[in-house]
Amino acid sequence: MNEAIKAAAASFRPGGWEPPPGLRAVVFDVVGTLVEPSPSVPQAYAAAAARQGLERDPGEIRERFSAAWRRQEAIDAAASPPFATSRGREAARWRAIVAEVFDQQPETDAIFADLWDHFGRVEAWRPLPFGSGLMRAALDRGLTVALASNFDERLHAIAGLIEPLSWADQVFASSEIGWRKPAAEFFRTVEQRLGCEPAEILLVGDDPDLDIAAGRHAGWHVLGVA
Ligand SMILES: [Mg+2]
Repeated sequence: MNEAIKAAAASFRPGGWEPPPGLRAVVFDVVGTLVEPSPSVPQAYAAAAARQGLERDPGEIRERFSAAWRRQEAIDAAASPPFATSRGREAARWRAIVAEVFDQQPETDAIFADLWDHFGRVEAWRPLPFGSGLMRAALDRGLTVALASNFDERLHAIAGLIEPLSWADQVFASSEIGWRKPAAEFFRTVEQRLGCEPAEILLVGDDPDLDIAAGRHAGWHVLGVA
């Protein structure tokens, strides 16, 4: 276990956190819950653009990324059926986001390829203390621990290599399941693969809609992380 994670797990104070009665599995969202991009998304985008000779302010990138990300979520919400996905759709999502952030500049394809590789590398991510500590606490209590993320199949490649992701017993990525959170089908698939009833699962996540509201709607226990 690396030192940063060890310190995070050691400093975690469950504050009386006990699994709800009958709980069998704790399912963690990944980005914003267990790990975060380091450098930040705007910094990574600015660096990839600079490698293609485009200078962009990270502050402007942050705003454009946020708008582009929301636009892609809205496309998925309006699709029929809503929030169905695939490997192709996830690649198309990120290509469209990069294109919008950089205003369809000719360098977009090269920047997209650069960023696709970047976020598929272990070095692009760093662990978050609270989620890491909670995962350790869940494992110590003998619970099954899984990852459930709207990240695509790149998650499978890095999950085994980054603590605390590597501690998880199972990894569920939306592009492989065929549904994104908040689709009910995403939650039903995870239940089936875990062999658990909804009330036997706790979802830990950072997104008020995709994790907390959707998990609650699925009948799971939920725990939000700041
Ligand atoms: Mg998240």
